Order: sequence, then C-alpha cells, then structure tokens
Amino acid sequence: MWTLVLNCGSSSVKFALLDVQGGQVRLSGLAERLGSAGASARVEVDGARRVVDLAGGSYAEAFAVIAGALDELGVRAQVGAVGHRVVHGGERFSAPALITPEVLAEIRACVPLAPLHNPANIAGIEAAQAAFPDAAHVAVFDTAFHQSMPEVAFRYAVPGDWYRQHGVRRYGFHGTSHAFVAVRAADLLGRPLSELNLVTAHLGNGCSVCAVQGGRSVDTSMGLTPLEGLVMGTRSGDVDPGLHDYIARQAGLSLSEITAALNRESGLLGLSGLSNDMRELEEAAGRGHAGARLALDVFVHRLAKQMAGMAAAMGRVDGLVFTGGIGENSAWVRGAVLARLAVLGARVDEAANAAAVRGQSGVISAPGALAALVVNTNEELMIAQQTQTLLAEQKGVQA
Ligand code: AMP
Repeated sequence: MWTLVLNCGSSSVKFALLDVQGGQVRLSGLAERLGSAGASARVEVDGARRVVDLAGGSYAEAFAVIAGALDELGVRAQVGAVGHRVVHGGERFSAPALITPEVLAEIRACVPLAPLHNPANIAGIEAAQAAFPDAAHVAVFDTAFHQSMPEVAFRYAVPGDWYRQHGVRRYGFHGTSHAFVAVRAADLLGRPLSELNLVTAHLGNGCSVCAVQGGRSVDTSMGLTPLEGLVMGTRSGDVDPGLHDYIARQAGLSLSEITAALNRESGLLGLSGLSNDMRELEEAAGRGHAGARLALDVFVHRLAKQMAGMAAAMGRVDGLVFTGGIGENSAWVRGAVLARLAVLGARVDEAANAAAVRGQSGVISAPGALAALVVNTNEELMIAQQTQTLLAEQKGVQA
C-alpha cells in the first residue's frame, strides 16, 4: 500500500509517494511559487525528473499534477492514505490524528499560534481531500513529539494568565525529525532507545536541539514559535525580549516589521551580511570574509551552549546526534561543536567526521569518548510510518 506524504507551505507543496515497508520512493517533487505567475512543479517519477509549468499557480493545479503522475504510474487507486505535515497542534495533539471535520476545526483553532504555517497546511488538506476523496487523510504534527515535555521545560516565566488564557508556553517544532533520528541513533549504537539520553540537533535552514530521554522529548530549543533558540539561516533565535521595544523606538519600526526582520533578515544572513546558506558561508570564510567567519562562529557558540543545556535538562547524556542539511554535511560545524563539548566528554574522530557527508550516517566520536553520530533525517518516511501506524491502530479498534 502506497502512502502519499504532503508538506504544504504558503507557496509550495512538497510531496512524496512511499512504500512504508520497503521505504521505496516512487514519486517525489516540489511545487513552488504557488500564488504567483512563475509557479512550477518539479516531479520525479521512478527517478526520471521533469518540470511542469503551473500557469494558474493554484494548489488545485499542483494536486492535478500529482494525481496525473500517480495515474501515469498506475497507482492512484492504491493510494489509500495521505499523511499531511501540520506545523502546530497546540496542546490538543500529542499524536497523529485522522482528519475529520472536528480535527480540521481544531487545526484551524491553532492558526493564531502559527499564522504563517497552519493556514497553508489547512489549504493543502482541503485541496488534497478534494483530489483524493477516497483516501484516509492523517495529520502529523511538528509539535506533537514535544507534548511530553514537563512543565518546568514548557512554561515561560511570564504572567500565568498568558498561559492559561492565550496558550503562551513552549511547544517546540521539528518533532518528527527529532523522533526519527533518535530511533536511528539507538539502532546505530546498538542500545535500546528506552535506556538512552540523547541530544539531537536538527540543523537545516531552521535549527533546533532536543533532549530525548528514553525516546521522549523532555526539552527543546524552539518555543511558542520556531523563532526561539539557535541561530538559523535567516532567523535570529534567542534575543533579549527587551530588544523589541528598544529597536522600535530607535529605528522607528513596528512590531510586525521587527518580527519579520527577526524571521527573515537575521540569523546567518544577518550576521554575515552575505548569505543564509552554510555551504556558501564556509567557502566565503575560507576566502577570508569576516562576516561569514563571524556568522559561523556565533552559530557554533550558540549551538554548543544549547546542546550542553539539553544535557543538563536530562542530567546525563549518552549521545549527541546531528541531522538536517548542515548536521548531515558540515564536518566543520560538527567538529567545532564537539570541540566545545569536550566539557561533556565529547571528542571527534576526524576521519569518521570527514567521511560522514552526503548521506553517510555513522558514529563520528573517538573511541571511549561520549558518542556522537550523524543520522540522515527522513521526515517523509516518518510521516508515512506514523500515518500507517495510526490507520492500523484504528482498524484494530474497529475489528
Ligand atoms: P535543509 O533545510 O535541511 O535542507 O538544510 C539547508 C542547509 O544545509 C543550508 O544552510 C545548506 O547550506 C546546508 N548544507 C547543505 N549541504 C551542505 C554542505 N555540504 N556543507 C555545509 N552545509 C551544507
């Protein structure tokens, strides 16, 4: 049975058709710039790639392209399940959910918590339900894995009514990825996940770390929104909350302009004045670009502090796990962070670290040191697995 996985953003739809058992991907692609004149879809069918123009730039057109590719493969009727990545599930969802009208209403109720993401997820769900009316649609939430965080980790020290009346608390994101790599890391270490305290670092364009104790999230660096925590591609991560008032008065900016700048003009881009792309920054720093050098150093400084903080949240740490585009490919970032984390007993194996790039998973720590690993994340596979697990459970309940 094939599972279609959809990740709908405000102007994009990322899709993949997977066989959960074998992990085989038959169809994948990305529709981009939806809502604008230049919309197009890149479609890869059985390894052959093509680009299709989407003249109207609508979600419906993107789904028509996906449905057409499924017809071409002759598997459209076998797509029994569609797994949707949904960014924010608030406190309501601690596990995937079959999308009923009630569940959709609850996802809608979380829109104020994720005004950039949830409306796009909802639009995607509605378009997909229209395109695949006979399939079971399941929502897999980015926040769900972190619902196991204890109150000491999820509460902010702000007036209590802000939490009780408005849901102001830490939720965390990238949950699917942290959960997936923790399972893989336990496999690589040959130890049961239930006995392990891991610090997982998802380092892509967005970045977060997570304290995973016995397979459950007990703390993470992102909070109410995905802006908290680490330095990211264009997001600032932690700043003094007093900054908003100060820069509003000094630069004459509105609150929404400040929020936009913290989301889109900060992070590696803001520090370097050059790029949000780690690869480009490593090259530029190598050529002596001072801004790029600073961006790399601040990135590593803050990452090391956050990873050590996650270790403190658990009291003991058995392994450090790197994933995401940067975590899976930048031997320099990993080496620099592990040097800082000598304080926890980390020490890198230089050769293993250099070899763990471009899809190579493995242990990169020196013998006898705190284990450090590179694990390739696969959010699509995890969403497909969670979708199928939920549907199997529901069938079991009905039987
Ligand atoms: P993601 O959002 O997971 O696709 O990750 C994107 C980030 O990974 C960007 O900052 C890329 O520059 C970075 N990245 C991808 N490949 C490499 C590489 N070979 N070396 C350093 N960074 C990389």
